[in-house]
Amino acid sequence: MIDLRSDTVTRPSDEMRVAASEADVGDDVYREDPTVNELEAEAAAAVGMEAALYVPTGTMGNQVAARTHTDRGEELLCERESHVYKWEVGGLAQLSGLQPRTVDGGSRGTITPSDIHEGYVEEDTHRPGTGLLCLENTHNSKGGVAIAPEEIDAAADAAHELDIPVHVDGARVFNAAVAHDVDASRVVREVDSVMFCLSKGLGAPVGSMLAGSEAFIERARRHRKLFGGGMRQAGIIAAPGLEALSNVDRLAEDHENAAVLAEGLDDIDGLAVQSPETNIVLVETEPTAEEFLERVADEGVQGTAFGEHVVRFCTHLDIDRSDVERAVEDVRRAMT
Ligand SMILES: *Cc1c(COP(=O)(O)O)cnc(C)c1O
Repeated sequence: MIDLRSDTVTRPSDEMRVAASEADVGDDVYREDPTVNELEAEAAAAVGMEAALYVPTGTMGNQVAARTHTDRGEELLCERESHVYKWEVGGLAQLSGLQPRTVDGGSRGTITPSDIHEGYVEEDTHRPGTGLLCLENTHNSKGGVAIAPEEIDAAADAAHELDIPVHVDGARVFNAAVAHDVDASRVVREVDSVMFCLSKGLGAPVGSMLAGSEAFIERARRHRKLFGGGMRQAGIIAAPGLEALSNVDRLAEDHENAAVLAEGLDDIDGLAVQSPETNIVLVETEPTAEEFLERVADEGVQGTAFGEHVVRFCTHLDIDRSDVERAVEDVRRAMT
């Protein structure tokens, strides 16, 4: 099977397994786990923030960020197809008492300064007030779109003028940085916090990071405990995360493989493919996504349904050029 369902399906490397078995550990709720402390310092540096917090999942990172930036009853402004709104079980309402207000970010999922001015709600006797702007980069549902640093800056400036803090759901922020050939710290230079996943393109078995100012992370640490994410000898899983941070530069390979995959698939009758910006390839399928996926699975390829007639394929650490070339041939066979 060539598993292109997600970049979360990677298996930990031998180095990661060795790092886990040899990790120096302590009780991280007491902040005595040296491996977690090292990971938090390195992660903060990787995105140019003062501090970072190790969390079990990206979802928890986003939810802790939302809770930490806001007060109950406020609004959170986000894109209509954003992960935090669409794929996190309504956590904004359930965990933080927030009312999401969505912006249609168009084909690229971008939020512009005018969207922010339009969506902004000033608190008064009747209205809740906007408490947070959440951006997503890369944008998953739009097909791994890498939003430019300047667009993030512009949105952040507009929000800050209105006294609204800005969080970036950067589950794949390093893919965005590599696509724009800049450091991740440049992508999030003007925002207040960022979450990124170690467990996606970077290949760690578990874990995500939430980064921001010292004071923000200090408060986020309490909310992580509240949400059940205070872990003990977490160095065992943080150690592979440290290894994962060295996989940033190789994300370019995933992007090249995605481009090769997209070009090959676009040649096949019954499929239409946009050229990808990062490691996510969205394929429009003439048959329903469900039928297409059944047919390609019979030929040894897996993907994810992303709409009635849309399938997502993801390239990742466990997929090389020969895999994507084979996948194209397998899909061609499935479609003829
Ligand atoms: C995967 C993902 C998350 C959540 O990460 P989990 O570790 O799966 O909880 C958040 N945002 C985006 C854009 C994602 O793709």
